[in-house]
Amino acid sequence: MKDYLTISQARDGLKNKEFSSVELTKHYLEKIDEFKELNAFITVEPEKALEAAKKADENIAKDRDAPLLGVPIAVKDLFCTKGTRTTAASKILSEFVPEYESTVTRNLLDNGAVFIGKTNMDEFAMGSTNITSYFGPCFLRYRSRSNKEEPLVPGGSSGGSATAVASDLCVAAIGSDTGGSIRQPAAFSGLVGIKPTYGLCSRYGMVAFASSLDQAGPLAKNVKDAAIMLQSMASYDDKDSTSEKVDIPNYSDAVGQSVKGMKIGIAKEFTEGLSRENAALLEKAEEWLVEAGCELVNISLKTVPYALPTYYIIAPAEASSNLARYDGVRYTLRSEDSQSIDDLYANSRTEGFGEEVKRRILTGTYVLSAGFYDAYYAKALKIRRMIRDDFQCNAFSKVDMVLTLTTPSAAFGINKSNSMSPVEMYLNDIFTVTANIAGIPGISTPAGLSLDGLPMGVQLLGPRFSEASLFKTAAVIEKSADFENLRKTISLG
Ligand code: GLN
Repeated sequence: MKDYLTISQARDGLKNKEFSSVELTKHYLEKIDEFKELNAFITVEPEKALEAAKKADENIAKDRDAPLLGVPIAVKDLFCTKGTRTTAASKILSEFVPEYESTVTRNLLDNGAVFIGKTNMDEFAMGSTNITSYFGPCFLRYRSRSNKEEPLVPGGSSGGSATAVASDLCVAAIGSDTGGSIRQPAAFSGLVGIKPTYGLCSRYGMVAFASSLDQAGPLAKNVKDAAIMLQSMASYDDKDSTSEKVDIPNYSDAVGQSVKGMKIGIAKEFTEGLSRENAALLEKAEEWLVEAGCELVNISLKTVPYALPTYYIIAPAEASSNLARYDGVRYTLRSEDSQSIDDLYANSRTEGFGEEVKRRILTGTYVLSAGFYDAYYAKALKIRRMIRDDFQCNAFSKVDMVLTLTTPSAAFGINKSNSMSPVEMYLNDIFTVTANIAGIPGISTPAGLSLDGLPMGVQLLGPRFSEASLFKTAAVIEKSADFENLRKTISLG
């Protein structure tokens, strides 16, 4: 089996009978086993996966076609999968087996996907490293040039999905992004990741973190695969009241189209104070876009510096409300030795939630409490509106999209992750949270390697429902960066 198969290559191989879906699935199941120590998966059910692959082979034999028919895909363990444990990497949900399928996974199944397993993540998607998982951290296979010993974190919270794709344990994966959880791990792992417009993918059946920010999206080996995946995931869904009824264009057709005449905004608030290494990466991406016929336009988005503090008020506020449902009565983990109902609530939650989740619940409860609501939560909502308007008036009335870095650094080591304060950790999201706050799409594309030889990504932010343009432009960066070949030079652990 060829290494690092893309969706198109897998589909061609299946159609031309070079391999069957059962063979392909077995191949990945063996690799998952071989790379067990990366801890990319929380649950793998080989029999179910092989059963699905067998069905796919039968359909292929009948000449049926679907965009993902027979292709092994990994699913972040935050999407409810009927009959398969869905934990959100939390002890409190560690035995939760949903009775229903999330809309996004349903759509993928309808498009022929074979689910290879449920991937590791930060608990309830809160984190940037995957170290908050109840099931233990997940690691990147890549190593830095200067320290080949220390394992690196894949980013988070969709760290398991990123590692699964980057280590070639599946063809592609899905994740969720509330403040950067698809784009940041994609950047750390040399993958393409897109957070779509809020409302493009249904949230039905996704374990909720912050409902006004959560969006599902793909992590893929290249832009074309990300386009195919998003096409298969997106749909209007009346089970999600925030789902949007829009025409979904053919995203793959956009890949390879000309970007001549497109205007790319460079916002000083995103570029001031960058390290030499980061500035050089961004300049390279700017050059490639200019060579392809884009025009760079300097813009200013004054509200951008407020996005991170706004996010760290709104997200915990919504989380504290969403996580109130885990009371030990209706949902799985129930503390054994409680004398009263109040004890039962308190003990189940104390035992069931990890440290970071408790921190978010406390912060959220605080900013929503009577005396502080106006000072924090109500103010954050106003600033959120200002950030949205700022993008509308000062970016998208002048330019087609905005170019930024995805992350302030390349992947870091497990020791550094363990020693970072919560606030230092939150700073990882500095470039990504804005898209969630504004409800706009953002795509991260690998653009080069850091001085230490690790993947680095750049991000494109576009107006609502501009995914096709984002794919088209990201494809230009991908091609110019020649990441396909750069990837092969990265040190492995
Ligand atoms: N790192 C961010 C946080 O911890 C984003 C998480 C996410 O997008 N799910 O909140």
